Amino acid sequence: MPHPKNAMEIFQLLDKSNCRECGQKTCLAFAGAVFTGRKKIEECPKLDRETIERFSGEPENQNAGGDEYLEKLKNEIAGTDLARATGKTGGRFSGDRLTLRVLGKEFSVDTKGNLYADIHINPWVAVPFLNYILYGSGLPVSGNWVSFRELKEGKAQYPLFQKRCEEAMKQVADTYTDLFDDIVHIFNGKQVEKQFESDISVVLHPLPKVPVMVCYWMPEDGIESSLNLFFDETADRNLNIGSVFTLGVGLAQMFEKLARRHGPTSTCHSGQPIPTCHSGQH
Ligand code: SF4
Repeated sequence: MPHPKNAMEIFQLLDKSNCRECGQKTCLAFAGAVFTGRKKIEECPKLDRETIERFSGEPENQNAGGDEYLEKLKNEIAGTDLARATGKTGGRFSGDRLTLRVLGKEFSVDTKGNLYADIHINPWVAVPFLNYILYGSGLPVSGNWVSFRELKEGKAQYPLFQKRCEEAMKQVADTYTDLFDDIVHIFNGKQVEKQFESDISVVLHPLPKVPVMVCYWMPEDGIESSLNLFFDETADRNLNIGSVFTLGVGLAQMFEKLARRHGPTSTCHSGQPIPTCHSGQH
């Protein structure tokens, strides 16, 4: 059974009338709820039976579907000349493995499509990682930052991206401002000159040629804080938009998890305070 790769894929199936018959305020909210397993797709009465049958499934089936997509990408890797892909990906080929740096850690794939990493491989990293190798154009990073909605096909997906990525990250930053700063450093983030008059600007590299800049504006004089992500203007050609979306939401979930688990005064597995630990294995 096919599994949607992101909530936007579900959103595209809906009639976008925001009629609320499903109990959600908008079709976009419904799509997000289905993707995260809080709603079932058949709760939208406007969908035809064929669509429902194609996409319905329990959360465990959704995982299986996700695995299915990952397996498909791995199979495609097995038919790819990884040595030739080295240059465009900014990686290193040795033995039968192509290795890229993902958030400062080494991730590899071999010529049979097997994945290797020192840390747990989450699907939100694995899928974009393989898509980047298979379909990325390998354009050099331009240095021009744009928002998600300025990327090709980003505009339609931006409301959901804003909610599930930027708003979620902002809440982490609001609660543990210092910790947020530290979290991004754990993943080899580089604090850069403040951009767009933000208070914190940090660049992360979830993939070598897909940098992400997180800008945070602290609350001030009754004005709410805000947080935005920026991508290099080449991001929509070095990675498909669905995978850019997945990376952003995955980063937000990872930050939430770390903030929940550690808080500002915790220590990591090696006994160091989180702000000074760079192992990334917590
Ligand atoms: S019932 Fe369907 S069409 Fe109506 S708001 Fe919900 S998802 Fe959208």
